[in-house]
Amino acid sequence: MARVPFEIGYKRALRLRCPLCGDGKLFSGFIRMNERCSQCDFKFEREPGYFLGSSYINYGWTAASLTVAYIFFHVAMEYPNSYVVPPLVAWFVFFPLFFHRYARALWLTFDCFWDHSELPNDSDPQP
Ligand SMILES: [Zn+2]
Repeated sequence: MARVPFEIGYKRALRLRCPLCGDGKLFSGFIRMNERCSQCDFKFEREPGYFLGSSYINYGWTAASLTVAYIFFHVAMEYPNSYVVPPLVAWFVFFPLFFHRYARALWLTFDCFWDHSELPNDSDPQP
């Protein structure tokens, strides 16, 4: 299978779709991830623990958004910590829950873009 351009794979990740074909859904529920693409049969989890790297993406976005929000509200807007910290703690708890699906989709897209050694070839028979 030909290498998918990064901007196309990135858009597919934001839509939570298969990075290769763009049609199959990555998730069948809020938490439950499909094992394979329903359209092209691409196996999403290449090996056990494959999506551990997505936690770094999730953590990075959470930490970056917290830092920017804290600097904006406390330093720039000069709100006291008693007003700024409680909503940021809530953000710290709930944002990663919301973002974990996108973190996995982005991880899968990044991996397919940089390491396409295990991607199916056009010459492989389709099931
Ligand atoms: Zn697919």
